[in-house]
Amino acid sequence: MAATAARTPYEPVIGLEVHAQLKVRTKLFCACPTRFGSPPNTNVCPVCLGLPGALPVLNRAAVEVAVKMAIAVGCAVQTESIFARKNYFYPDLPKGYQISQFERPFATGGRVEAEVDGQELSVRLVRIHLEEDAGKSIHEGYADSDRYSYLDFNRAGVPLCEIVSEPDIRSPAQAHAYLVRLRSILTYLDVCDGNMEEGSLRCDANVSLRPAGTEPLGTRTELKNLNSFRNVQRALEYEIDRQRELLEAGEAVVQQTRLYDADTGVTRSMRSKEESHDYRYFPEPDLLPLVIPREQRERLAAGLPELPGARKRRFVDELGLSEAAAHFLTLDRAVADYLEEAIASGAEARIAANWVMGDLMRLLNDRKIGIADSPVPAARLGKLIRMIGSGTLSGKIAKEVFQAMVEEAADPETIVEARGLAQISDAASLAPVVARVIADNPTQVEQYRAGKTKVFGYLVGQLMKATRGQANPELAGKLLREALEGD
Ligand code: ADP
Ligand code: MG
Ligand code: ZN
Repeated sequence: MAATAARTPYEPVIGLEVHAQLKVRTKLFCACPTRFGSPPNTNVCPVCLGLPGALPVLNRAAVEVAVKMAIAVGCAVQTESIFARKNYFYPDLPKGYQISQFERPFATGGRVEAEVDGQELSVRLVRIHLEEDAGKSIHEGYADSDRYSYLDFNRAGVPLCEIVSEPDIRSPAQAHAYLVRLRSILTYLDVCDGNMEEGSLRCDANVSLRPAGTEPLGTRTELKNLNSFRNVQRALEYEIDRQRELLEAGEAVVQQTRLYDADTGVTRSMRSKEESHDYRYFPEPDLLPLVIPREQRERLAAGLPELPGARKRRFVDELGLSEAAAHFLTLDRAVADYLEEAIASGAEARIAANWVMGDLMRLLNDRKIGIADSPVPAARLGKLIRMIGSGTLSGKIAKEVFQAMVEEAADPETIVEARGLAQISDAASLAPVVARVIADNPTQVEQYRAGKTKVFGYLVGQLMKATRGQANPELAGKLLREALEGD
């Protein structure tokens, strides 16, 4: 990194526009379902198809979830805002305009805080506004796709909020960290399901370069078709290099919209970047101003859950987890809840964190299921970990019990009992085994007594083997040492 910085006097400047599909049952201006994956053109009506005479009726539930998001990131939520028509002509836009918000969005300002490589990142927001989605053009997959494109309007009118950042981001890694945190907040609040493959979270990235240490912004390009956070990062990396080469060669960056091709890792010019006047915005005459009363804002603010940033800090400060563990375990609210439930049922926090990140995640990934469907509920994992803490189970046997808990969907106590797996922690039961190990290994015992204490490990190993790993290792070591040194 340092070498790159030394070579180039340019600093990247990045601003992101994120579209989040609001998690509500019906569209923004009609009662059609927002369900994903329905047969094409089945979730449509005269309003979302833009048929003459149809009038929009605002979905209040969509406003409510968008306001929740705005409050969570510290926006100023406006008492009154205005819907506007954004006019452009594309086959997937049946009305010839999109209902959006322009001069007076419902939320302005705010910020998203994240961490990247141990450093705090604070990205200011310009605004959040409400808008409807367009339909979808399908250019592939039909027998006559070489001659025709098809249109699916199921998505037309689906409620979105657009979250626009200030150009505060300075590297592709920061862009990635910002997006990860933004998605966490959206999913914690149940505002959006955060699913990029299904298009419920989309991101356009704006990037320019400027000589390091200078203020004025350079000419930017806007990158589209970024269908994963990794691709946002890769596209930005490519684009920063491309712009740098142009500038170093004394050429100008052209303000453009560019498409990212994930297969080749390259961005290509799609069109010259439009200016807002190209859209001939004007206030939507068929909708009243959007009024969000103070009581509604206060009620929503009071109902906000603990957000991922705060939860992560608490996991570090109160549970003693590492930054990395706390980060991972708070990305998804359900995972953080699971961990806390395991701890509530008696598990030591750091051991519980390791089990969740290790054995449990492996299990969920193998089965391709979410934590909500875990065959081992949090309270059971908590009990298992408590049994390690109390000395009933060794760490190694606990793994075996966990496996059985997955297969049999049973409590750890039941499994330990049924299989006789409890750790042997009383001296009386271990004493005869110690005596046998000493009797069976005269050579090693002699070596130990002659000062070659390295063979001690071997003898402990024999003892563990004799008890099928169930001897409490500390006690076993103590008894063995006493026996070796006693006579
Ligand atoms: P639009 O893309 O719709 O024309 P804006 O001009 O508001 O809208 O900018 C959209 C995004 O581009 C914002 O996230 C903003 O921070 C970012 N942006 C604006 N100018 C630059 C620039 N010169 N370099 C990098 N990002 C920029
Ligand atoms: Mg834009
Ligand atoms: Zn409809």
